[in-house]
Amino acid sequence: MTSSTFTPVGEQVGEFYDQLVGAFDASLYGPNIHVGFWDGQEDTTGLEDAANRLTDMMIQRLQVGPGDRVLDIGCGVGGPAIRLAQVTGAEVVGISVSLKQVEKANEAAVAAGLADKVTFLHGDAMDLPFEDASFSAVWMLESVMQMPDRKAALSEAARVLRPGGRLTLTDNYEREQISEARRPVIEGILKRYHTQSPASFEAYPTLMREAGLRCTEVLDVSENTTRQSVKRLGKALAENMSELASKIDPEVFAKLKPAEGENLEMPEMGYLIASARRPEAAQA
Ligand code: SAH
Repeated sequence: MTSSTFTPVGEQVGEFYDQLVGAFDASLYGPNIHVGFWDGQEDTTGLEDAANRLTDMMIQRLQVGPGDRVLDIGCGVGGPAIRLAQVTGAEVVGISVSLKQVEKANEAAVAAGLADKVTFLHGDAMDLPFEDASFSAVWMLESVMQMPDRKAALSEAARVLRPGGRLTLTDNYEREQISEARRPVIEGILKRYHTQSPASFEAYPTLMREAGLRCTEVLDVSENTTRQSVKRLGKALAENMSELASKIDPEVFAKLKPAEGENLEMPEMGYLIASARRPEAAQA
């Protein structure tokens, strides 16, 4: 599959991550591109361990083991997929619109001695290059918010999931109403990270149902994740500024770096975990 068949949005997201790929070697979240999970303000767990903790919570939800085949949609640089294979013994296939991420993730699988169990492909979530019902489980870890259409992305995920199979994901949602004054500020930050508008917590079960899935859980974990991460990440970024600057194109770095005094806290934005199953029989 070549990038010319990707959605325009997917292509932009792919370029964005291609430019950033070096940054994930810096001492931040390790081989993860998702927030961490902390018990509260007093929890001093580091970024990488906290990110792994969230991965582990998602692993528990999939309930897979040896013999299962899991699809990781929006796989980043491969950390979560490799951990999933290590913990469960399942086979994992990851997919990302960023070719550089896919290369890096495959290198990581080889380095972990898991090249026969974990593979990464360059492809678009909106048009998955897989047969219907070809996976036992699917996850989308902090990736669906970058896709041009949540319902279409979830429908594609449901198509490749076997009947009875589980899906779990994390997503942003509008936790507090965004005021007219704040909207441009928030949209500016989201745009910079190629992120779409937040979802609706209340509408998640309907969204899942419309995509052919049966929602089993929608959980607000904002207080443990995004409400914890901005300050912690800001501190880690400041400490690793020179390492990061040496690993990212200066022009890209200048665009992403928070402006002097800019506050990236967005209390209006919540973070949720949602899980579902594909019904055994076709839905009426
Ligand atoms: N799940 C990984 C990475 C999260 S970052 C982790 O938790 O570490 C978001 C990921 O979604 C990136 O890898 C990005 O390339 C991928 N992504 C975004 N839109 C995509 C699309 N349309 N198709 C495939 N991957 C996509």
